[in-house]
Amino acid sequence: MKRPDVVIVGAGSAGCVTARRCAELGLKTLLLDRKPKKEVGQKVCGDEVSKSHFEATGIEYPADDEISSVIAGADVYPPNMKNELRVRGWSEFDGWTVNRLSWGQRLLQEAIDAGAKFLPNIHVGMPMVIGEQVTGVEYKDLSSGQEVIVKSKIVVDASGFAAVIRNKLESSLIENDIDKRDIALCYREILTLKMPLAEPEVARVFLGGEIAPQGYAWIFPKGVQEINAGVGITGGKGRGSPKSHFIKFKKKYPLLFGTELIDGKGGAVPVRRPLKSMVGHGVAFVGDAALQVNPIHGGGIGAGMRAGIILGEVVRGAIARRDLSATGLWSYNTRYLPNFGRRLASLEIFRRLLQGVSDEDMDFGFERRLLEAKDLMAANAGDGISLSMADKLKRVKRGAGKISLLMKLQKAAGLMKKMNKAYINYPDSPDKLEDWEETVLGIIESANFE
Ligand SMILES: Cc1cc2nc3c(=O)[nH]c(=O)nc-3n(C[C@H](O)[C@H](O)[C@H](O)COP(=O)(O)OP(=O)(O)OC[C@H]3O[C@@H](n4cnc5c(N)ncnc54)[C@H](O)[C@@H]3O)c2cc1C
Repeated sequence: MKRPDVVIVGAGSAGCVTARRCAELGLKTLLLDRKPKKEVGQKVCGDEVSKSHFEATGIEYPADDEISSVIAGADVYPPNMKNELRVRGWSEFDGWTVNRLSWGQRLLQEAIDAGAKFLPNIHVGMPMVIGEQVTGVEYKDLSSGQEVIVKSKIVVDASGFAAVIRNKLESSLIENDIDKRDIALCYREILTLKMPLAEPEVARVFLGGEIAPQGYAWIFPKGVQEINAGVGITGGKGRGSPKSHFIKFKKKYPLLFGTELIDGKGGAVPVRRPLKSMVGHGVAFVGDAALQVNPIHGGGIGAGMRAGIILGEVVRGAIARRDLSATGLWSYNTRYLPNFGRRLASLEIFRRLLQGVSDEDMDFGFERRLLEAKDLMAANAGDGISLSMADKLKRVKRGAGKISLLMKLQKAAGLMKKMNKAYINYPDSPDKLEDWEETVLGIIESANFE
């Protein structure tokens, strides 16, 4: 392809959806990935994705061999494993665990069918930059060893957690120094169980400092007798590896006794609000490269797909108007961040709340139902935690003896509201970004619950 309009680095779920949308809109689209074609889609992941993301984007539901299990609820366990919260009957929670490879191959094929050109075995090393304007990428063809420069109007970094383009750019618009405490290090195994699952449509989540410091462990069904189970932890050094925590968990939780290992691998995922700006001059970021991940559970598949659709449309508009600057791409920020991005940002406050509550207080909160399924659902939908006067009175009664815990809850509810408001007021141009960022950082700084 001679001088593509857009080069997309990375053919994960976010990159494929972006490529498909760009190609559908008539852009000459080049999609690059370092993997061989038949491995595109493979990813260390919990594999769970909610139906709501497909409904929001119009992307077809996973079907046939793309589905491992249908998910219709979750049990959330506190550290003492008693009084678990059973989440059932919330459509927001309905979804699937997917076969990452088959489903990823389908997303790739859809991008190719829409007209995107895909090159496998391509390791992208560097962005090409003139001043602050990104003008293309430099890559190595891993099959031939050839080094190539490809120029394009817009470059999209969809390279996942590695963010290979973003991390090499310097601009006041671009964040590339992500705090280690905002990164979850994970280890997960695919396991065959000794017995079929009693509830093969229910995901399980386990909280607590011993099981998963500043994170959680999960067991997601992958069929009636297969599971995806793992641990994600945050907080930087000194907490032990996620694998060591998982091995301990495996010895403690009876369902995992005597399981047969199919695959075990580590991975990392960002768990904070999205980037303050998901565009620079001639460049945009999508998926994990844009930190588009739900901070409480690390789910990023849906968040990246939603962004990919918007980004394709914005790139087309910028190219049509011949404005390849950050201003030309700015509507990607203003369409995503005050909407879905707002959810993710307010959930960072919720994540900080969960991390600031001791195991003992968490057990108490579960026992007295200080947080209910409806609160989790409202928080997840971006509506914050609604504490009406009646609600407050009910909870004060139930929470008697742990006023400090109630106060933390109240504080989190207030900060989530503030964060929501800040994101609704996301600036309409890059020159107002600095003031907005100050407001957001102020809220984050107050979100200390220890
Ligand atoms: C253990 C774990 C469990 C998770 N569980 C869930 C879950 O249950 N549900 C959920 O929604 N999310 C989950 N996530 C997060 C989710 O996997 C990611 O948010 C999502 O896959 C990100 O998609 P992406 O397209 O941005 O990046 P990726 O899927 O990582 O794709 C990036 C692509 O870029 C390519 N690439 C990277 N560098 C280069 C380079 N230099 N040159 C060329 N190509 C390159 C890679 O080969 C890859 O194909 C989990 C993450 C982890 C680590």
